[in-house]
Amino acid sequence: QFSTSQTLNNLPKQFFASLVKKVGKYIEAGYDVINLGQGNPDQATPQHIVKKMQEAAANPVNHKYSPFQGFRYLKQAAADFYKREYDVTIDPDSEVAILFGGKAGLVEIPQCLLNPGDIMLVPDPGYPDYLSGVALAKAEMITMPLREKNSFLPDYSELPSDVIESAKLMFLNYPNNPTGAAATKEFFEETVQLASQNDICVVHDFAYGAIGYDGNVPLSFLQIEGAKEVGIEIYTLSKTYNMAGWRVGFAVGNSSVISAVELLQDHLYCSIFGGIQEAAAEALTGPQECVRELNHLYERRRNVLIAGLRSLGWNVTAPKGSFFAWLKVPEGFTSTEFADILLEQAHIAVAPGIAFGELGEGFVRVGLLTSEERLEEAVRRISELAIFKK
Ligand code: PLP
Repeated sequence: QFSTSQTLNNLPKQFFASLVKKVGKYIEAGYDVINLGQGNPDQATPQHIVKKMQEAAANPVNHKYSPFQGFRYLKQAAADFYKREYDVTIDPDSEVAILFGGKAGLVEIPQCLLNPGDIMLVPDPGYPDYLSGVALAKAEMITMPLREKNSFLPDYSELPSDVIESAKLMFLNYPNNPTGAAATKEFFEETVQLASQNDICVVHDFAYGAIGYDGNVPLSFLQIEGAKEVGIEIYTLSKTYNMAGWRVGFAVGNSSVISAVELLQDHLYCSIFGGIQEAAAEALTGPQECVRELNHLYERRRNVLIAGLRSLGWNVTAPKGSFFAWLKVPEGFTSTEFADILLEQAHIAVAPGIAFGELGEGFVRVGLLTSEERLEEAVRRISELAIFKK
């Protein structure tokens, strides 16, 4: 038995591993669990992307090491994607880094830019993996509260001025996991201004960039004037094209950050399999109806869930984007107690808000990752719970 390093010991606890275990016990025991806990897309990757991968797998070019920074055609595809979707001009040679999924980039960036003790601003509640990058960089994390009264956007005036002046890095994520909130142009503009005045690098996690509701197309941070000077955006194919298992994404924006990420990656691994790069380029530049259809599918599911829960007298807010609903826990329960009641009594798995930070307490996160019929069934089961019986 070897002892592990301090670096490893200081990593934050991975909440979802314990949720998977807990849910697994109910499934093994034969219960029909409706699993709305994890953020794993339930739809298949579109066929034209799979087909491209199959062809590419047979090409010997892809059997060798890929160029360390990835193939240029994929960087060009990422630039074309940003031009087409957001009218943002990106230089494929200096402003795109190919990533092993968004998560790798999010964990790598703090290690690229921070020295031990440097301040990094992280949203609370927020995607838990932001904390992994902070821990590996031995940085100091300061949380930015996301409050319902501010539509889950940070209010920068709440942060002490010495914190803002010394912060080096800030993570943002809209459409937001877990709250389902969307950013406004004014908020992003304020962020660019704050970042440029205080020399903060902004990393905008755009994992749910393709999922917006009620006709709202999510804003890219790079659409804001001056954004490229102060930050980057992380884009992943995991959610947009149901490619979570393929592990591919990219960072776009500030060239000094992009080259830092590429340098670190050069020391960590060679680039991803060429077949996946060809498939990713096909996803980004090929037919896009699948993306619109997926957005509509999530919107229908959202509508079923929200209408169903409201019909039970539960005062819930509809998400504006992402595939999560962030629901206020009924009076008298912590988020963990309420999530446990749902699992034990209704066999519905959800994530307790506390897993996303202290300010997540009082909420549960529900993934829209099963069919409308199953969501209706979930509402029916909830209606049978004693706390919802009138
Ligand atoms: N960012 C957010 C907010 C997420 O919810 C996820 C995945 O759940 C990711 C990033 C990481 O996605 P991937 O590593 O699959 O690209």
